[in-house]
Amino acid sequence: MKSLSERVEQLAPSGIRRFFDLAGSMEDVISLGVGEPDFVTPWNVREASFAALEQGYTAYSANAGLLELRQEIATYMQEKFAISYSTTEEIIVTTGASEGLDLAFRSLINPGDEVIVVEPAFVSYAPLIELAGGIPVAAACHAEDGFAIQPETIEHLLTDKTKAIIFCFPSNPTGSTMSRDQLADLALLVQKHDLYVISDEIYAELSYETEAICFATLPGMRERTIIINGFSKAFAMTGWRLGFTCAPPAITQSMLKVHQYGMMCAPTLVQFAGIEALRSRHKTVPDMVTSYRQRRNYFVKALNDAGLPTHLPGGAFYAFPYIGHTGLTSEQFAEQLLLAERVAVVPGSVFGASGEGYVRASYASSIEQLQEAIARIQRFMKKWQTQDEA
Ligand code: PMP
Repeated sequence: MKSLSERVEQLAPSGIRRFFDLAGSMEDVISLGVGEPDFVTPWNVREASFAALEQGYTAYSANAGLLELRQEIATYMQEKFAISYSTTEEIIVTTGASEGLDLAFRSLINPGDEVIVVEPAFVSYAPLIELAGGIPVAAACHAEDGFAIQPETIEHLLTDKTKAIIFCFPSNPTGSTMSRDQLADLALLVQKHDLYVISDEIYAELSYETEAICFATLPGMRERTIIINGFSKAFAMTGWRLGFTCAPPAITQSMLKVHQYGMMCAPTLVQFAGIEALRSRHKTVPDMVTSYRQRRNYFVKALNDAGLPTHLPGGAFYAFPYIGHTGLTSEQFAEQLLLAERVAVVPGSVFGASGEGYVRASYASSIEQLQEAIARIQRFMKKWQTQDEA
């Protein structure tokens, strides 16, 4: 038989998978591994899709998505971030933010183009860039900067092949956020070097200290930024597969071409749920945000008290504790914690080299589960400290 795609064969398998498989084969595991809300989608949102089904909306929608949903997205962007996007020319409804990312990379990248990936980063960015024929270039964030990216770090990585930069604030996996001033410095660099920006804002609603900033609202950025967003996190809708992109007309046109051939449209029933999710957001999202904030406050303090230094994440639902002082690699730490105490976390190294020395623990679990996880982590750290002293 002839060989399969070399490009796909060269992709590294996801580092997270191995831990999920191992954790899945064990009993009584507390999983802080997965990146998804522990809430079920609000009832009124589920009802909106029942109603759409009853009314027989079972056909394709427009390629770019139901006009009514695109209008709601435009209203949302205006209300939340004070930025205006054209319903008909600048918004695409996607099957999750994941598809939005894929569309963005495929529309921007020519073979050999470099895309700067602000790391530690969501695991899909680099493989999707490679699949689009590009070369991911890692730009490291550090704990001493609160995991915000420094423009100098990026400046050193620029070449005549650099096409774009991708980042996500609030961040998966660090939970870090960037201030408007910090983002403005980044915007200056972007402008100076004529780069495109892919700003993954999927955690924007889950911000606990200050309001999230939409990167396209910074001076000069609207025309060169693709906003990626979606319903999975803030609306507890991971399984529905619904997201959207906002970008200037020429970029949207190009992304729409890829979307039209590869996907046709996001599932129609799901889009009806999306309309209701946006319309009712003031009733549903704040309670979830309050709950995540409470859990964050408890969990991050408890990790610090257990001997794992952890910065206070400004958003998302991840803690990113430092484990380097144990002398274990992040992979060894995650494996030993799982085997010894049945707590599953994700090794920081899967999010890029700068994630080494850390693990990612999601606090989207009940407070009781988090308390039990902390008790186990404390025991693990004590045992490890005793061994170390012996
Ligand atoms: N971006 C980031 C940073 C994420 O964490 C995730 C989900 N883990 C996604 C995109 C993909 O989200 P979706 O479910 O909308 O495809």
